[in-house]
Amino acid sequence: MIKVDCLVIGAGFSGATVAERFAAGRNKKVLVLEQREHIGGNAYDRTDEEGVLIHQYGPHIFHTNGARIWDYLSRFTQWRPYEHKVLAQVAGRLVPVPFNLNSLHALFPAPEAERMERLLIEQYGEGARVPILKLRDSASDHLQELADYVYRNIFLGYTIKQWNLKPEELAASVTARVPVVVSRDDRYFQDTYQAMPRDGYTVLFQRMLDHPNIEVRTGADFFELKDKIQAEHVFYTGPIDRYFDYRYGKLPYRSLKFSHSNLPQEHYQSVGTVNYPNDHDYTRITEFKHLSGQRHPHTAIVHEYPCSEGEPYYPIPCRENEQLYKRYQQLAERENRTTFVGRLGNYRYYNMDQVVAAALSCIGTPA
Ligand code: FAD
Ligand code: UDP
Repeated sequence: MIKVDCLVIGAGFSGATVAERFAAGRNKKVLVLEQREHIGGNAYDRTDEEGVLIHQYGPHIFHTNGARIWDYLSRFTQWRPYEHKVLAQVAGRLVPVPFNLNSLHALFPAPEAERMERLLIEQYGEGARVPILKLRDSASDHLQELADYVYRNIFLGYTIKQWNLKPEELAASVTARVPVVVSRDDRYFQDTYQAMPRDGYTVLFQRMLDHPNIEVRTGADFFELKDKIQAEHVFYTGPIDRYFDYRYGKLPYRSLKFSHSNLPQEHYQSVGTVNYPNDHDYTRITEFKHLSGQRHPHTAIVHEYPCSEGEPYYPIPCRENEQLYKRYQQLAERENRTTFVGRLGNYRYYNMDQVVAAALSCIGTPA
């Protein structure tokens, strides 16, 4: 029997944060079990066969408004400033996403674009961020026309591919992540802190977990080992439905197939990510060198193909799934020695910074 103070299941951002705080902050012995062969969870990065840094599980761009989260992670990495830019292919053109005044002027004739711009500013104010489902409710006929255009050309096809649902069938917060922006700011995120870990995410994780009180076992599935481990407390960051052996049925997750390519050319596209709302089976192509700033005669890109079967990358936020999750959450609350954390443990569409914040607050320990 292995005895530890704290057992952490999963070595992603939530597991690494809990492990680091228990080991360094509370001087507890921590065992981390990770079923994959590497640490880092979905933020894991590595160099490909040509030496170009890639994100194995799709593009991860760090952004946060939380000074506490930024300061905490800055203990384990230096940063490379990076502001993500995304273009979408619409009507044969590449226009900025989130849809903004530049996109408007690129797609509409000047007089019409100017009229729409005036209306948007009058109605919502300069710099406003208006979710598409809210814009569709606008009282102005002209703005409703614009909303319909943006809905049909930016959101509908992409959302059906990504989720197999229409925007209005998902929680409004999903499409509100990428609102219509009443400005000419082409950045994908507007957070105070936007940067990439200078030496990559995997190195950041190595530093978080590099502590004499922490043992990490990769290739180790908790469900195969649990009878051999005695822990005062368990933090579980895997899918909550699996923990309870799918007692109430499976919680739906959306998966992706990542198709990575290395190309013998310096660059492939002009920005980090290009979205394809209306064409192709994939949703987007990301070129990693924009994110990393790496110089290399080759470049690496990834196409993302959404699918229903496979690794559970995305909880699917909608009322029905939330109700099912709540039933699992009630079971979770009865587990005195186990805390459920993270994107899969809490069935929440969390970004990396939100996962770190949730992990810090669930252990009630200051960073
Ligand atoms: P995970 O990273 O999923 O880690 C959980 C770990 O637990 C996994 O490694 C899993 O193998 C392990 N595990 C599960 N069950 C077991 C078990 N039984 N035994 C042992 N180990 C187990 N966030 C951003 O902030 N910016 C972005 O740009 C961004 N882009 C994203 C792009 C994609 C394609 C995806 C899928 C996510 C993106 N995210 C982004 C979200 C980000 O990946 C998550 O917020 C974060 O990685 C969640 O961390 P976590 O520790 O909760 O979960
Ligand atoms: N979305 C869209 N078209 C786009 C970009 C986003 O319809 O060009 C919608 C889509 O439903 C997507 C959601 O907004 O799933 C959130 O987008 P985000 O880029 O935040 O997704 P993630 O990076 O988490 O996959």
